[in-house]
Formats: sequence, C-alpha cells, structure tokens
Amino acid sequence: NRPPVTVIGLGMMGSALAQTFLKEGHQTTVWNRSAGKADALMEQGAKVASTVAEAIAASPLVVICVLDYGAVHAILEQAGEILADRVVVNLTNGTQAQARQTAAFAAGWGAEYLDGGIMAVPQMIGSPGALLLYSGSQKAFQTYRPTLEGLGAVTYLGDDPGLAPLYDLALLSAMYGMFGGFFHAVAMVRSEQFQAEAFTSLVIPWLQAMTASLPGLAQAVDADQHRTDVSSLIINQTGFANIIDTCLELGVSPELMTPIQGLINRGVAEGYGSDGLSRLVELIRKPVSA
Ligand code: NDP
Repeated sequence: NRPPVTVIGLGMMGSALAQTFLKEGHQTTVWNRSAGKADALMEQGAKVASTVAEAIAASPLVVICVLDYGAVHAILEQAGEILADRVVVNLTNGTQAQARQTAAFAAGWGAEYLDGGIMAVPQMIGSPGALLLYSGSQKAFQTYRPTLEGLGAVTYLGDDPGLAPLYDLALLSAMYGMFGGFFHAVAMVRSEQFQAEAFTSLVIPWLQAMTASLPGLAQAVDADQHRTDVSSLIINQTGFANIIDTCLELGVSPELMTPIQGLINRGVAEGYGSDGLSRLVELIRKPVSA
C-alpha cells in the first residue's frame, strides 16, 4: 500500500524528500517554481507537473517544502478547490501562528492539514537518524504514517498544528546554542599553531559529558527546585567573568557569551546566587520587560 505522493518545492530538502518517496516505491509527482530542478528526479521516475494545480490533483498526499510560509501561500492560493479531500503536509520551517493560519486556510478548502518539522539535513532523509515532528490532523497522520515513516522516524505531537513548529524551533535553539558555543570556543583557541580540527578531540567528549547533566537540570525545572550540589550561579558568575576578560585580552568578540553572562548576573541580582544553572530557565521565562 504505497499511495501516490506529490512533492512541491525541489530545493535541497524537497529534492531529498521526493527522491526518498521514489526509492520507497511511491508514484511521485513533483513541481518546482523554476524549471530544471526536476530533471534528475524525472530520470529517476518522477512525474513532473507543469502547474501547481496539476501537481495537487495528481496525489491524495501533498508534501510542501519551500523557503517560507509566504511561498507556501503563493502556492496554495493557486490550488483553491483542488485542495478538497487532499492531505497537505507542510514541512516548511515557520512559526506556530503561520502553521495555524495555514491549517485554517487548508481546512477552508476541505483539506486535512499536517504541519511538520524536519530535524535532519537532506542527506539524512530516509535514514533512521532523521526525525520528523508532526502536528495537526490526527486522521491524516494515522492514514499516512507508514508513508511518512519512509522519510525518517516520526513523532506526532498533537492536533494543534502549532506544536510541530514550536518543538522544531526549540530543538533548533538547542542546536544553535551548541554551534554558538563551539564556534566561540574555536575562536578562542584558534591560532597559527592550533587548528580547529584538533580541538574537536577535546570539545566533543566535553559536550557529550555535559549532556549527561540535562536530565537532572530538567528535573529541577519541572520541580521548580533549583538548589544545587553541582555549582551555584555565584560560582558560574565568577568563572564567566574570566571567559569575557580572556576574550578581551585575545581580541576575540565575546558577543555570543555576554547574553549568557547577563542572564547569570540577573539571577544573582534577583537573589538566586546559591541556585544552580537550572534557575536560568525561569529567568528566560520571565523577561525583565514583562
Ligand atoms: P532551498 O533554498 O534549497 O529551496 C527553497 C525552495 O523554495 C526552492 O524550491 C524554491 O523554488 C522554493 N521557493 C522559494 N520561494 C518560492 C515562492 N515564492 N514560490 C514557490 N516556491 C518558492 O531550501 P531547502 O530545501 O534547504 O529548505 C526548504 C525548507 O526546508 C525550509 O523551510 C527549511 O527551513 C527546511 N529545512 C531545511 C533543512 C536543510 O538542511 N536544508 C533542514 C530542515 C528543514 P525555486 O527553485 O524556484 O527558487
């Protein structure tokens, strides 16, 4: 039981999605705004639609993966009543509000809507290492779950279409925090003599060891109990000043680190100096301007 699938948007990610559907044995129809990007897929057996309407008419399941929601709407507005009884799976990155608005637009034309977040790069699509988050129509998810599992592991978060973008953006925030920390660390040690690649043998095991502390931090957040036997905000505040001072001595920009320092300083100023780092979550949830 391999239903026909349409993929709209053949950028790096859309092409990987279409290629994977083809490999999985789905009759796959594709459409892209500019010509040429479908050529390789056509050689692999994809049908190339000449209009959006033709692409959507070709399959009960329509996967959209384009630059942003402006592009999604530019596409869906060309479809209109052809959307009736279609399942639209939108894997374009966006906000909660954009997902909810698009779900309402699709529902207005009689389509079921699933929003999705792709936690993978194109090269990972179709492998178990890829995770795709979904939210929105439960019926659509249940019907097409086996098809969607062809793209990677799936997690269904609930019927609010805004959930997948929320969790996607939260996970991306964690990723950017890690990359930011890595880039800053490399900038500190990088010199004529010391290459970034050599540093990975230190930083990778260090970050892996630190991820072991995440469950304990999460428990502290859930219980709203931030007392610590690991390290206090005051100790972190003292050590952080040394990071900033060393950056200034090196002529390295501290701009990725100063926001974290500011948060730790705020925690101490608000009287939480003996709490652990988990207190920072509460501070983030209560911006100063709130
Ligand atoms: P690309 O830049 O490779 O492709 C963008 C696609 O959007 C192209 O097909 C482009 O068409 C299309 N597009 C842009 N504007 C419009 C428009 N107004 N109307 C119709 N089509 C339009 O991006 P990716 O494939 O990398 O990313 C696509 C989505 O996937 C993004 O939301 C991204 O965040 C998400 N994603 C990407 C990941 C990655 O690692 N690449 C990882 C996880 C999610 P044209 O060819 O005509 O320009």
